[in-house]
Amino acid sequence: MAYVVTDACIKDFVCVAECATAAIAPVEGDAAAATVAQVYINPDECIDCGNCAAICAQSAIFPQDELPADKAEFAEKNRAYFN
Ligand code: SF4
Repeated sequence: MAYVVTDACIKDFVCVAECATAAIAPVEGDAAAATVAQVYINPDECIDCGNCAAICAQSAIFPQDELPADKAEFAEKNRAYFN
């Protein structure tokens, strides 16, 4: 299980600094940061600490098993970013 970023993300990159495993990308300043609508969590790197969700002012991040039904697609979208 992992945390998942949804389209409520405004790319303020606050969560990126909170992640001890560098599971969130792209990071601010990356060339890729300008080309994506949101950041994504690598489910293979996430250790489920919840720090990112706790600090997100947009409430854009959910544990995968608590994703709202209309955001379910974002589990695969987060994984796909890293494939
Ligand atoms: S839950 Fe923790 S490990 Fe997973 S992406 Fe968020 S801050 Fe990183």
